[in-house]
Amino acid sequence: MPRDNHATNPDGPAVVWFRFDLRLSDNPALTAATDSGRPVLGLFVQDEAGHGSRPLGAAARWWLAGSLRALQAALARVGVPLILRRGPAAVVIPDVLREAGAGMIAWNPRPMSAEQAADDAVRRIVAETLPHVAIADGLRRTALLHDPAALRGRVFTPFWKTVTAKLAPPAPLPVPPLRAGLSIASDRLADWGLEPTAPDWAGGLRETWTPGEAGAAARLADFLDQGIAGYATLRDRPDLAHVSMLSPHLRFGEITPGQVWHTVQTALASGRAAAPDADKFLSELGWREFSQNLLHHHPNLAAANLQPRFDAFPWRPDDRLLRAWQRGATGYPIVDAGMRQLWRTGWMHNRVRMITASFLVKHLLQDWRAGEAWFWDTLVDADPASNPASWQWVAGCGADAAPYFRIFNPILQGEKFDPDGAYVRRFIPELAGLPSAIIHQPWRASPLERAAAGVRLGDTYPAPIVDHAWARNRALAAFAEIKSNA
Ligand code: FAD
Repeated sequence: MPRDNHATNPDGPAVVWFRFDLRLSDNPALTAATDSGRPVLGLFVQDEAGHGSRPLGAAARWWLAGSLRALQAALARVGVPLILRRGPAAVVIPDVLREAGAGMIAWNPRPMSAEQAADDAVRRIVAETLPHVAIADGLRRTALLHDPAALRGRVFTPFWKTVTAKLAPPAPLPVPPLRAGLSIASDRLADWGLEPTAPDWAGGLRETWTPGEAGAAARLADFLDQGIAGYATLRDRPDLAHVSMLSPHLRFGEITPGQVWHTVQTALASGRAAAPDADKFLSELGWREFSQNLLHHHPNLAAANLQPRFDAFPWRPDDRLLRAWQRGATGYPIVDAGMRQLWRTGWMHNRVRMITASFLVKHLLQDWRAGEAWFWDTLVDADPASNPASWQWVAGCGADAAPYFRIFNPILQGEKFDPDGAYVRRFIPELAGLPSAIIHQPWRASPLERAAAGVRLGDTYPAPIVDHAWARNRALAAFAEIKSNA
């Protein structure tokens, strides 16, 4: 329950401490602050080392800058400042509360134990040093649909069944009628260096995304208009636009899973969405919940194999192979198109994430943690739960994981999920002239076909970095070495 210390400064503003909940709607902390009748002051603290979260990678830092700018603008429209400060939250927050003459602070709960410990530290210091400041915490959970402390999931299907059995998230909160307040000194966003300058590699990100709450709402509306019809069957096709691309918006809390859930229910009720598509889509949100549940119970998810027998896996670290994969130069078009989509847009289609990750750990025998780290740095949706959980799932060492011996064939995967080669053509223009029937294995094109398309293997496009059948056998042999240590 929110605690009210009967503040000695009844007119002092309520400071809302934003974290990765960068939105005005469905924001219990903002609503609590508004309900107190006080003017509101927003605060975001850039506390890389100590706020319980993993330091952001480069693409996510770019996203954060855009999201903060959008939040600052949305708050400014109603006269509410968003103060930016850098440093340890337990030091910065008491300073801000003093400077603002605040009578209240509010924040939304975060799901992870390390984050909760960081919040506890702030709560203690505020209670001890500023006893007149009311602390509104313990508010309604909006970051997740379930409470990870109350449930431990190891297998997805029963986990999601348990969650959905009780699932009727409360109706999302509207944007509260904020009362404008006086400002105090703030850092300049530009001085935080979140966005790249020399070189500015973010052009493709700017073309693809609109960070912020309005961008999130627009994505969801577009998806319901155009994408969700056929989602259940077409979500695996990277050449089509049948996924929501909501992941970075959810990651930064610009939209809540409860808002998505309710909007989809409304679409279902009005016949705008069909049940099989809506169920499948909501179950993908379920994988997000499942990953967060895993991280809650395994805080070391990005470093330690969930299945300890994989500790003895004979990885073969090789910088040359890792770099070829990172640059989209493996010679397998579907893998290379995915890695180039990631580099250009900060996002990759889920099917292709599975193919590229599998290729790295199985065909190239590179440790999944090297791939996870690259995704962490390059994805705009890089998520401390979904990223390592998915990598462990692909590598076979995770919870409810794909069995290691199921090795994706990158040629067949390309032919099945990008049947006309449109996805490959989009990200690898140097292969665009090849006929669709051969575009997923350019080395099998006839010399005439290659010449007509201007493809010179090893020159305009690489020859395959490993032979698929040979790599598959080598991966199976590597797995046999650890199989018996169940
Ligand atoms: P949609 O299909 O529209 O799904 C809706 C939402 O459900 C997504 O926005 C996402 O929040 C959630 N979701 C969907 N699939 C998954 C999944 N398999 N696991 C967890 N949540 C899911 N997702 C991230 O959000 N951040 C990551 O860092 C991340 N890393 C990944 C790494 C690998 C190797 C793999 C195989 C998957 C990873 N995913 C990650 C999961 C998934 O690929 C993305 O969530 C999805 O592609 C996002 O696109 P979308 O919003 O269009 O998804």
